[in-house]
Amino acid sequence: MTDQRSAELADGLAAVRQRIENAAAAAGRDPGGVTLIVVTKFFPVTDLVTLADLGVTDIGESRDQEATEKMSAWPEVADRRPRPRVHFIGRLQTNKTASVARYADVVHSVDRDRLVDRLSAGADRAGRRLQVLVQVSLDDDSSRGGVTGDQAASLADAVAAAPGLDLRGLMAIPPLAADPAESYRRLRDLCDAVRRAHPEATWMSAGMSADLEQAVAAGATHLRVGSAILGSRPARR
Ligand SMILES: *Cc1c(COP(=O)(O)O)cnc(C)c1O
Repeated sequence: MTDQRSAELADGLAAVRQRIENAAAAAGRDPGGVTLIVVTKFFPVTDLVTLADLGVTDIGESRDQEATEKMSAWPEVADRRPRPRVHFIGRLQTNKTASVARYADVVHSVDRDRLVDRLSAGADRAGRRLQVLVQVSLDDDSSRGGVTGDQAASLADAVAAAPGLDLRGLMAIPPLAADPAESYRRLRDLCDAVRRAHPEATWMSAGMSADLEQAVAAGATHLRVGSAILGSRPARR
């Protein structure tokens, strides 16, 4: 790892942490109630190690194959550093659930019943428990994944009832054309409804590089920030 890359990541991280503090202060919230997930998709495992050295405890990955490669490389590259918690945040194909269940600590993108059954079976086989969020599509256009707001409650019930899975809350990617503040307020309302039925489901996963302030203002507990820390993503391999 070059000192230059390390300095770049330290700067990006410091800037984002400052933004979170400012947004929390503006919202009258404790910044400790906001978990930063650094989205490392498309970046090498050496960047993950550098981030761990900078105090990052949570990383996000969106493609199973890439995440599997990084996690299997981790023990050798990381030289005994504890592995950060891994959040799977990408669209999940049914045939990848067994693999994801082996390394992910949290899955943010559950958006159909079939995934609930498969992840539950995968967790059982791997002897693990998975923290799960239901992904909601806030404009009811599911092209980027997510159930409609109407379907969120029943899918949340299914997750809560599934062996090996712990329902933690809801996740959303804001619709491209919409005002993120408004989208995140809508997500907040859906989260509150789910929490009334499942008091343990306290998480709201929302907020990316461009809109983390609006997400914090709406009550997000988990931010997924990539490019503001790592720089723009290299072209897909
Ligand atoms: C890539 C990605 C992010 C991070 O986006 P940035 O704009 O780079 O911060 C957040 N959430 C999901 C689901 C992603 O795929």
